[in-house]
Amino acid sequence: MIHAIEELFERQARAWPQLAKGLEGLARAKTRPVRIDWFDIAIRHIPHRMASTTASVDRESVAKRPCFLCAGNLPSEEEGLQFGKDFTIYCNPFPIVDHHLTIVHREHGLQHIANQFGNMLDLAATLPGYFVIYNGPECGASAPDHMHFQAGSRGLFPIEKETAGLTNITVPNYARNVFLLRGRHRSALIHRAGRVIELLAETTDKRAEPMVNIAVFHEKGEWVTYVFPRKKHRPEVFHTGELTVSPASIDLCGVFVVPVAQDFERITGDAIAAIFREVTLPDDQFQEIADKLESGP
Ligand SMILES: [Zn+2]
Repeated sequence: MIHAIEELFERQARAWPQLAKGLEGLARAKTRPVRIDWFDIAIRHIPHRMASTTASVDRESVAKRPCFLCAGNLPSEEEGLQFGKDFTIYCNPFPIVDHHLTIVHREHGLQHIANQFGNMLDLAATLPGYFVIYNGPECGASAPDHMHFQAGSRGLFPIEKETAGLTNITVPNYARNVFLLRGRHRSALIHRAGRVIELLAETTDKRAEPMVNIAVFHEKGEWVTYVFPRKKHRPEVFHTGELTVSPASIDLCGVFVVPVAQDFERITGDAIAAIFREVTLPDDQFQEIADKLESGP
């Protein structure tokens, strides 16, 4: 699959001008490291992310636009690779990292994680050297109306190094609350992730689906999963216009996307830490769930 994806990128970069432009944009992207507590964040200035960062994802706006993930609405140059019976892998024309992929369900239907986490694990196992992410419908997905994942190269994936060797489900002294799930057994992991989602739904009173971002990678036979429980979609600085940022899975994993040049110059590690704390689940609720996970079935 990895080889087929390399070939897909080569073919699509020649045949599809929008992707070629995105890859050029990524090659020009500036990256600046900042330190938060005891870990690093890579701030990335990528102007072509503006539309995604500021996308209107309320029900009305989404209902009005044609779905950009439905096969019938794709540009004629765009081609994909089949993954399993339900998904197609495409090159993402607005990349944040190298080999940025969008993995799209064949049928138009709401973004949801229930019964889909196994597919995420399978994707991660099929894509060594990649991470796979899920952005909840109210947590950064710009197509909340069409089920999809994304994936990308782990060449730049700060959280992997920060949490290396950590096995606990909760990560201490961290600017963002995250559930860390490691395991070699697919069904056991699906069960544990399902339990996290269920407890989140109860605690935050979101019955359809709790607000989450999820990232997974697979290495040496082990899956490493990060579940970021969310409190809100966008930080206050976004609404006031102070900073054009809208964190989702990739940002929470340590690649913080900033489409505006001035923001890139002036944003600080403290500002990012404050944004993370504001949009992820507060400590008391997080701890309550962590306690239940450790004691419960
Ligand atoms: Zn669609």
